[in-house]
Amino acid sequence: MRPLLLLDFDGPLNPYKATGIPPGYERHEITEGEKTWRVLLNPRHGVELNALAGTFDLVWASSWEHGANRLLGPLLGLPELPTIVWTDRTRVRSGSWKTPYVAEWVGDRPFAWVDDEVGDVERERFPGQLILAADARRGLTGREFAVLREWGRNSFAGKGFSGDS
Ligand SMILES: [Mg+2]
Repeated sequence: MRPLLLLDFDGPLNPYKATGIPPGYERHEITEGEKTWRVLLNPRHGVELNALAGTFDLVWASSWEHGANRLLGPLLGLPELPTIVWTDRTRVRSGSWKTPYVAEWVGDRPFAWVDDEVGDVERERFPGQLILAADARRGLTGREFAVLREWGRNSFAGKGFSGDS
């Protein structure tokens, strides 16, 4: 069973807490209707994620919901991805509000979850899965991609590898 890779956007792929423009990033202004967003994108992320798609099934797990496919994926060279849709963002007492939806969505599939708002609560909730906390000041780095590659390989080989961030 191929593992899933759940992708948050703001934080891991858009380092919204960065001061200035970190190396490797470009500023983009995205407009749709009356709305405009400013995001920082790193073309390298698209390359790395497309490579990971050889091992993982990529899924958007972002508050942009379908907007991630419409507005963001194309800028990174990503194909249209399945998308988790959240209906109520206040369902949890501690940890990420995304957790109940993630649990429902993944079923019994192995998964890696990349997000800037995950940590020990999520690791405890999903033992054996890779819960990878991204730093919203610098986004995903080569280090996190290396962890994902290794975990994906081991997960695919069914070794029950349990990574941490
Ligand atoms: Mg985020």
